[in-house]
Amino acid sequence: MSTVTENVQEVLADIKKYSIYPERVKLVAVTKYPIVTKDKLEELMKNGIFTFGENRVQVLEEKLELLGEEKNKIKWNFIGNLQKNKVKYIINFIDMIQSINKLSLAQEIDKRAGKIGRKIDVLIEINLSGEDSKEGYDLEEFYKDIPELIKLENLNICGLMTMAPNTDDENLIRGSFKKLREIKEEVNNKFKNNLTELSMGMSGDYKIALEEGATIIRIGSKLYE
Ligand SMILES: *Cc1c(COP(=O)(O)O)cnc(C)c1O
Repeated sequence: MSTVTENVQEVLADIKKYSIYPERVKLVAVTKYPIVTKDKLEELMKNGIFTFGENRVQVLEEKLELLGEEKNKIKWNFIGNLQKNKVKYIINFIDMIQSINKLSLAQEIDKRAGKIGRKIDVLIEINLSGEDSKEGYDLEEFYKDIPELIKLENLNICGLMTMAPNTDDENLIRGSFKKLREIKEEVNNKFKNNLTELSMGMSGDYKIALEEGATIIRIGSKLYE
């Protein structure tokens, strides 16, 4: 077996081992790295992985070119800071935008989706680490914007996304995943909403995220090394 296959199988086994509801968990293969060549993308597909995550529009477009017609088999997830003026380049085909971090971005996606008659699945990204380098809504601002966000008719708000703080302290990492789950429950209670998805966990911390209820894990580097 070559590397990608071995690693995908390991992650799939870990989902069964660590998740509290393994049948609900989706693996997003993060393909943003330069080492991810066409044969690596094809090996992911051979292993049944058809959901790819990218964090820059330009790099995503390069992948589309690399894949040719095969690009249509992929559910593309956007996971990075999305500039409003780039929404138009992905709105036709994007399967999920995981990184809504401000109201004006949500409104732009809503407007563009409405024009082409699509309803787009999105997640709201929350910055729980307080680190400036991390994208995502400040929690207070998110609560303030919720009433406006849920009015947007062409967005299907499926849940929340976060990145754990940059630390080796497992308790801090676990704490931020727990917190995201609590926020989801609170939003569902207060706003009679039905958020179901929790996108949390990357190569270094996905086992903890699975234990804390992740429904989407976003794995990059681990798949290719
Ligand atoms: C790069 C990236 C990932 C994947 O990170 P790895 O540590 O390579 O698994 C997940 N989520 C986001 C938002 C990313 O930018």
